[in-house]
Amino acid sequence: MEFYNICYICGYINPEKLVDYSICKCCLYQYGIDDTVYGHESLMEYRNGWIKEGFPFKGILGYFKSIDKLLLQLDNLKKLEISNYHSLFTAHQVNKKWTNEVNQDLIRNSWDKYY
Ligand SMILES: [Zn+2]
Repeated sequence: MEFYNICYICGYINPEKLVDYSICKCCLYQYGIDDTVYGHESLMEYRNGWIKEGFPFKGILGYFKSIDKLLLQLDNLKKLEISNYHSLFTAHQVNKKWTNEVNQDLIRNSWDKYY
């Protein structure tokens, strides 16, 4: 099911279902670690960090090539609901600070800085 392959950080559709200890192939977030300890807030913190670092794809700067391609991927986040978060350990905690909306200003500022 495609839903479980979408990364909550970067919106990338991974080839395999993301479960605890899975690592997203795009942003390299590892599920079931920080989200277990700090809850869903860690998702927002990690996403903002990833954006500020220039959206490295598999650690390779420049993968996205165009901001449109990046925004298209981040658009996948709109398909996600935090109440459906798939971590086995945090399934019953819902942090309302998590949002499936990305900070557009942060994205554009980082884009201008890196590309
Ligand atoms: Zn990701």
